[in-house]
Amino acid sequence: MENKKVILELKDVKTYFRVPRGVLKAVNGVNLTMYEGETIGLVGESGCGKSTLGKTIMRLYRPDSGEVLYNGQDIWKYNKREKKEYSKNVQMIFQDPYACLDPLCVVSDIVAEGMKIHKMYKGEELEKRVLELLAMVGLNKTHASRFPHEFSGGQRQRIGIARALSLEPKLIVCDEPISALDVSIQAQVVNLLKNLQKEMGLSYLFITHDLSMVRQISDRIAVMYLGSLVEIADSEDIYVKNYHPYTKALLSAIPIADPAVERERQRILLQGDVPSPVNLPAGCNFCNRCPYATEQCRSVKPELREIEPGHMVACHRAEEMKGK
Ligand code: SF4
Repeated sequence: MENKKVILELKDVKTYFRVPRGVLKAVNGVNLTMYEGETIGLVGESGCGKSTLGKTIMRLYRPDSGEVLYNGQDIWKYNKREKKEYSKNVQMIFQDPYACLDPLCVVSDIVAEGMKIHKMYKGEELEKRVLELLAMVGLNKTHASRFPHEFSGGQRQRIGIARALSLEPKLIVCDEPISALDVSIQAQVVNLLKNLQKEMGLSYLFITHDLSMVRQISDRIAVMYLGSLVEIADSEDIYVKNYHPYTKALLSAIPIADPAVERERQRILLQGDVPSPVNLPAGCNFCNRCPYATEQCRSVKPELREIEPGHMVACHRAEEMKGK
């Protein structure tokens, strides 16, 4: 990836929320570099800050500190024209394909709206472009005049994808785009996203808690726990060689299709509760659930460090975790 162009860089990004009990540290010092044409799968349990990070990239939440650089420029230092350009170049596909579509608009209006706002096409050209976009996502002319409630979940997600593509983006934040869909439809949507990426050179940040599906689409996987990234590696690499005890526990929970293998395998059952993001531990965020925690873990926060080329881990004992 080193010779590829960096499209997005997150530098120590912190997004906090003030709540009655104190400060909720939803994203707590994330560093991540994304390359053009790359897909990063961002995985972790519900509530770990994945979606907040996605929305911070989308400029929906302003980070308390740190920088979000798009093509080397801080997105919070944009002027009006640059903001508009960014809102075109970076799009989002949402988890709930029904809630994100206006129920009072027909599909052609939903897909055309962004192109009208950005004055990309008008008249017949706009109508033609809408039909092209629908064809790209496997829908046709007859779908253009229908309302969102007339479609299945998978078709609605295709409409959401067509709407995101309409602005010819460079980067798409896919926020759990398949978790509301049936398993058979999930594979169709993932294949569609992969094909579109090949055709259009898109970059994806693919947010999910489904570790088995994300493997099929991601070049790299970033594992998030309580607002911080704990492991980042090539997607093929991380499934066979992982170092962080939390990554190991997540991977051990993936079901295996072969019942004989499934019966024999050992699951890692984590003890203890996830600490509150309002009251994070002084040391490693994972120390109250980690079977390998030491005194150092309880008092010193582990930094994300490269322990093999391209493989980053935030764990004091990462080197000892090989083969565990
Ligand atoms: Fe476990 Fe310590 Fe590593 Fe945290 S730093 S994951 S507590 S071994």
